[in-house]
Order: sequence, then structure tokens, then C-alpha cells
Amino acid sequence: PPQSETLGFQAEVKQLLHLMIHSLYSNKEIFLRELVSNASDACDKLRFEAIDSPDLYEGDGELRIRVEYDADKKTITVSDNGIGMTRDEAVANLGTIARSGTKEFFSQLTGDKQKDAQLIGQFGVGFYSSFIVAKKVSVLSRRAGAPETEAVMWESDGQGEFSVTPVEKADRGTAITLYLRDDEEEFASGWKLREVLRRYSDHISLPIQMLKEEWDNEKSELAKKSEWETINQASALWTRAKSDITDEQYREFYKHVAHDFDDPLAWTHNRVEGRSEYTQLLYIPKRAPLDLWDREGRRGVKLYVKRVFIMDDAEQLLPAYLRFVRGVIDSADLPLNVSREILQESRDVRVIREGSAKRVLSMLEDLAENKPEDYAAFWEQFGQVLKEGTGEDPSNRERIAKLLRFASTHGDTSAQTVSLADYVSRMKEGQDKIYYVSAETYAAASNSPHLEIFRKKGLEVLLLSDRVDEWMLSYLREFEGKPLASIAKGGLDLDALADEEEKKHQAEVAETFKPLVERLKTALEGKVKDVRVTGRLVDSPACVVVDEHELSPHLLRMLQAAGQ
Ligand code: ADP
Ligand code: MG
Repeated sequence: PPQSETLGFQAEVKQLLHLMIHSLYSNKEIFLRELVSNASDACDKLRFEAIDSPDLYEGDGELRIRVEYDADKKTITVSDNGIGMTRDEAVANLGTIARSGTKEFFSQLTGDKQKDAQLIGQFGVGFYSSFIVAKKVSVLSRRAGAPETEAVMWESDGQGEFSVTPVEKADRGTAITLYLRDDEEEFASGWKLREVLRRYSDHISLPIQMLKEEWDNEKSELAKKSEWETINQASALWTRAKSDITDEQYREFYKHVAHDFDDPLAWTHNRVEGRSEYTQLLYIPKRAPLDLWDREGRRGVKLYVKRVFIMDDAEQLLPAYLRFVRGVIDSADLPLNVSREILQESRDVRVIREGSAKRVLSMLEDLAENKPEDYAAFWEQFGQVLKEGTGEDPSNRERIAKLLRFASTHGDTSAQTVSLADYVSRMKEGQDKIYYVSAETYAAASNSPHLEIFRKKGLEVLLLSDRVDEWMLSYLREFEGKPLASIAKGGLDLDALADEEEKKHQAEVAETFKPLVERLKTALEGKVKDVRVTGRLVDSPACVVVDEHELSPHLLRMLQAAGQ
């Protein structure tokens, strides 16, 4: 007889299970959303694999998700006829966490329930959320195309171990049964399940079915019939008319595609026709994912071709500086058998990428103009990534430049709230440049001795301290015809801003200190290029500047640190 094996969860899974049960309890009904979301993903995967191997359908191409319950036994079963899992897949997918960012996630946990609940949300709750309401979960699965005798039964009480047993299963796909905890019986009810499914899963493009129920007068109870009914709209959300979609549905769909727990910050939904035909539904998350800076991290959006799921994380569909965007792009032009390699060269993909980038920028412009608080929240999470666009996307550089926000001497806080347009509107008569100073930290920038004369003259200076800033400045040379100029470089031409008296005074000073300058030049020969009298300092006696065309000291240090 087939042997059952008992295996231990990966340590992180144990931790996650414990946390989830204790911090997500007030949101417990989300387990249903997660199970339906997985069932839908499994059907998407089957449809994709079946493009090349139609046999995988085993004669049944009507993909659907079914939800059943047994009020007496206090169980709920969510089943699908999707791709299914082999024994090894069940062990790997339901016993470990392979996601990138896992380490960071666990290192950020605080023990504070509320904070940790937020973090788990970001991390993605997934299958394990079943254990919030279930004392035992059993997963019966057979991979599409595998023999009936090669199915697997995975079972666990969510404590620390799970068992896998070889079993038989006639139909392909997965059936997940939750044995509800004693105080969670409310979920074993047709009314409750329908309510939760409608709230969380109406956007799912496959039919979600439940058995019909009718009132039985004799027994005075609801009786289940043997007929299935579909309880959702069962059409892909992005294919519906905007006017038919509620904000709630847009939000729930986001949670499904982004594997996020939180609502999105904003979204844009468009159908593009013409040379290239595609639909895009793109979202900006509220928070940066843990792997935003991870080279291996998740990027990009889900790609569908004529409603058939093709791949997750299709990074070619958006430029890298928009890698925080989540959502779906459904193309009518690409072939169904498109691969990542083809995506890289396809002209259609280039058109989609350019169109999608423009849409995201429009969405951000709209946010900046109409919802400044949301834009500030966006900037805090993703501003540094957007700055990469100044170099990566020259065709949109001007639009990106308008979206940038900086700290400056105007507000004198580290908060990045000043746009270049704000800066220009405050420029003084005769000022023709946008001044900035860059340093490794905000404090170093705002205490730079180079600022003295600017503060005295009331000239605003941008205070730059993000790692990406120097790189950005090598591409962003001007804004609306006004060059960006470092106040730490070269001969600052502030003369146009000086009045007659100041100019006279400076000439006198230069004359008076001529002998000193000569002596300093001799003393520092070989160490500096030049010594000159300056009007740029107020309190400090001297400062070092670099030539206009040379690397700034800050960039020089960065390059040295990088070993160049
Ligand atoms: P995620 O959906 O974010 O990958 P989950 O915890 O929800 O994470 O699911 C973990 C993995 O388990 C999935 O990626 C998938 O490989 C597998 N899985 C879960 N449910 C099913 C299912 N119904 N059919 C096939 N595979 C599944
Ligand atoms: Mg999932």
C-alpha cells in the first residue's frame, strides 16, 4: 500500500503560520479570496500549457472553480480543474516559501501585531491563510496529464509538519478542504460563502460555482440541489466596460494580480486600438514591495494574449523605472506561443511598452495635480525609482522632470516636496539657473558652506542626497530652458544678481587680497589648480570647489567606493 510521509515545514513557514493566525484574525474571510485566486491562477497555467499540449485538457476544457460546504462536518472545499500539482510540487509549493524578499520580510517583523499584519499583507498571505479558520487543511491534487493513480494528498494542522500520501484522483486539478475550527462554523453556510465570494472574487474571469439551494418547506431548511450555479460575473475584469466596474472590484482585482493585501493607490484602465490593439489595467501600489531593489525581484505586469494568460512579471512590457507598476496587459496582436525571448525583440511589445509608459506617466500627472497627498505618498515610496527614468527614457524626460520632487532650502526640511516648476516660479530676477547641491545625506547637503551666499541672497537651492541623484543629473541638464547648476562647482556667476555696490566691494576685496592669493598659490602649488577671492562665502573663510566640467566630490567618492 502507498506510504504516507511526514515532512516538516521550512522554518519561515512555521513563523508565517503563527503570525498569520494571530495578526490577521480580524480579516479572516480573506482565506477564501486566496484559495479562489490560486484556483484561478492554476486554471490560467493549464490554459497556457495547453496551447502547446491540448491533451492536458483530458477532454474537459471548461475550466471552473467550485466551492462546496458541509454544515454537519463543518468543512469547506474549494476545487478547480486547473493544472494541479505533483507530489513534489505540493511539497515545494505548500511547504516552503521561495519568494524573493523572504529574508527581508522576516528581518522586519517587530512583534507588534498591527505592524506585522501590514507586513504580511505586503509579503502576500496566500494559501497559508487557510489556517486562520481551519484546524486542518487537506489538499487533494493531480497534475494535468499525470495518471489517475499518481495524485497526492497533502495534509496539515498548520503546527509544524505536513504529510503527503500517494492517492488516486480521477479528475485533474486540486480540491482543498478546510476543517473549520470550532468557532468558525459560520463559514459552512451557503449564504455566508456567497456573500464573501461576491465581495472578494467577482472579478475572477472563470465561473465560480456553488450548488443551488432551495427552501425545503417540509424540513424547514435550505436544501442543496445537485445543480451548479455560477455566482460571479465570470468575465475578465479588464475586458468589461469601465462604467460597469466598481471601485471595489478594481481594488479586489488588484489584490489578486499583485498578491497584495492592501488597496492600490491608483489605477488606469484603457483599451488601445489602432496600429496595435491591447487593453491595459495598471495599478500603482501603496507601498514599495520588499524586493524593489532586488535585481532578482518581481517586475512588470501579467501578460495575456486574447484573454489567455501567458506569463507573470513580463518585464518587457514596461520600462525598468516603472517596475513598481502592477496589473494586466492583454494584447490582441501577439502570438499565443510568445516567449520571453520573442518579447524582447517584438515591435508590438515596443509599442505596448511606450504606450504603457505614457499611461502611467499620465496617471502620475493626474495624481500630482488632483491628489497631492497621494502623490506625496507615491513619491516617498517610489520617487527614487522614477528618477531613473530621466536617463532610461529620454523621450519622456520632460514629463518625468515635471514629476520630480526635491528637498530645498525653501522649506528647509528633508521632505521631498518641491517640484522644478515650483522652483522656477520662485526664481529671482536675473537668476537664470536652477541651483543644487548634492551630498551623501540631507544633513550634509543642507549644511554645505557653499549655501551661505545663496541663503544670504535668498536664492533657493535644491538639496540632493539620494543615491540616484548624481546619475540623474548627468541626464537632466535643464528644465524649461534653465540649466541645473551645482553650487559646488566652478566660478559661480552670481554677478547678474549682485547690485552695483556689491560689485564694487568685491573688486576692492579682490585687490586687497591679491598678495595673499599669490602666497597661497605658491604654498599650495601642485595641490590645487587655482586660488581665487570669492563672494560666495559669508561665514566660512575658504572652501574647495571643483571645475565646472569635472566630477563632483560626491560622485567621485561614489565611484571610488564602487572600485572605479
Ligand atoms: P502565490 O499564489 O502568491 O504563489 P500561495 O501561497 O497562494 O502563493 O500559493 C503557493 C503556491 O501553491 C502557488 O504558487 C502554486 O504553485 C501552489 N498552489 C496553490 N493552490 C494551488 C491550486 N489550486 N492548484 C495548483 N497549485 C496551487
Ligand atoms: Mg496565491
